[in-house]
Amino acid sequence: MCMNALPTFVNLQRKGVDICDVCQACGMEPEMNSHVFVKCEVDKRVWRCWLDCPTVLLNVNMNILDIAMEILESGTSSDLETFFGAAWAIWYNRNRIVYESSSQIPDLIWGFAKKYIFEFQSASTACSQNLSRSEGKWLAPSPGVFKINVDGATSGSEKNSSVGVVIRDAAGNIIAACCKYFQGHSLAEEVEALAMECGLLLAKEQKLPQIILESDALTTVTSVLAAEIGGSLGHIYQGILSLLASFSWKIKHVKREYNNAAHELAQSQSVHPLVVAANPLDPNQFAVGLTDGSVKVIEPTESEGKWGSSPPMDNGILNGRTASSSTTSNHTPDQTQR
Ligand SMILES: [Zn+2]
Repeated sequence: MCMNALPTFVNLQRKGVDICDVCQACGMEPEMNSHVFVKCEVDKRVWRCWLDCPTVLLNVNMNILDIAMEILESGTSSDLETFFGAAWAIWYNRNRIVYESSSQIPDLIWGFAKKYIFEFQSASTACSQNLSRSEGKWLAPSPGVFKINVDGATSGSEKNSSVGVVIRDAAGNIIAACCKYFQGHSLAEEVEALAMECGLLLAKEQKLPQIILESDALTTVTSVLAAEIGGSLGHIYQGILSLLASFSWKIKHVKREYNNAAHELAQSQSVHPLVVAANPLDPNQFAVGLTDGSVKVIEPTESEGKWGSSPPMDNGILNGRTASSSTTSNHTPDQTQR
């Protein structure tokens, strides 16, 4: 429409089509782009229905593009949608006149346009909502890169706090997970920083070369990126920065819902310490119980050899109140949920 590419009679004639170029709606003027959409008497009756039109559409001597620009300048993008929606309804009616010898009254053309615009706007809103929901999903890193999600949590009474770490590969497999529990009052920012440090320590232990560290704590992320080693938490940031030196790394701030796995670990420990138990028959296999009732069985990788099996763990239950890190084999899906 703005490119003057529609098959109006004048355009068809220009292309060599042997046709009468007079507008069939009014029978008054050659049917060119500006006539079809603005100047035709039939259209003017449609445009009169647009009571809050931000510009003078009637009796203007502008082309469609100029009108669109003026609407955008003096109105809103919603006004522009109304303009094109109504123009589309006018073109639809023009085709009915030309090919079906029928026509609608201006009120109906305008009503059709309004309904069409409303449906378009509703569909656009639904689309953008779906888009933001899919953005909320955890995104796997590229092959060879490992994503570390970390989170810190303080209990309601702020008497103790905990951190959770989950490291996953490009296929989304959990490479390692870790929970740590701290007694004593800690500031939220401190716990978030400790969560990062814990995640990096675990990744270093796993000898992962390339990492993306994700946290939902914006202050902590910006403090690390700005290398703020002067403040009260400077010593923790200093530690994080020296750990980062062992990786090719990126740090990202993610919204809370993006960071679910780590948050779940941290939360579950702050409310009820995670239960970490060794299998009585196979001390190399550990079961981690989460507060949502799921149990994850995890094993060390073959290359690391077996974990100390002698003497056996106390009655098969490890102390859930201290650090516990675990590793899954990364060649088979041996992380089982029961
Ligand atoms: Zn006309």
